[in-house]
Amino acid sequence: MTIDKKRINDLIEKVNSDMNDPSGQEEMIKIEVSARHLHISQEHLKILFGEEFELTHFKDLSQPDQFATGETIRVAGSRGAISKVRILGPVRPETQIEISMTDTYSLGIKPEIRMSGDIEASPGCVIWGPNGQVILEKGVIVAKRHMHCTPETAERLGLKDADEISIKIDSKRSGVMSGIVVRISDKYNDAIHIDTDEANAYDIKNGTLTRIIK
Ligand SMILES: [Zn+2]
Repeated sequence: MTIDKKRINDLIEKVNSDMNDPSGQEEMIKIEVSARHLHISQEHLKILFGEEFELTHFKDLSQPDQFATGETIRVAGSRGAISKVRILGPVRPETQIEISMTDTYSLGIKPEIRMSGDIEASPGCVIWGPNGQVILEKGVIVAKRHMHCTPETAERLGLKDADEISIKIDSKRSGVMSGIVVRISDKYNDAIHIDTDEANAYDIKNGTLTRIIK
């Protein structure tokens, strides 16, 4: 029997390079699926829930100090309305509603894919609470998929802020998901955030682990 020395050498080289891979490409990152929700300003909270109202705590989210509240509201556009849209706390300087592309069609709102916080000239809607309603001039977005990343993880993976990465999803509807914007902060925990439409398209659940490919 002849031994294919070249093949063995190639294999050894591959094993060594995988073990020494400084880019850490084999690291698993958690995917979190965001359901439709909103962030609310203090001013709008008062109108919807009353002067003295404070948001209640329902459960912690993965990012430090962010939580799901016990409060939900109703959102309406020109074509329809969606009830029980959950408010995420704490209050923010500006009200922002994050819905899926599918929701924009049910509501009759032009879809605008934006990073959170980028709401200038975005579409508006009407929001109702138990105490009143607000007609918003702007603030409705479809959140652009993104990865929250600590500086340590960014260093290990060779990522810079605002980089766009791709992930390989192994599921019954497997595929590559690209254009995930990297956000780096020491106030973050590592997590990739996608919405329910994106999760359903790839048949993945909240908490699925994935690999970054470049
Ligand atoms: Zn996020």
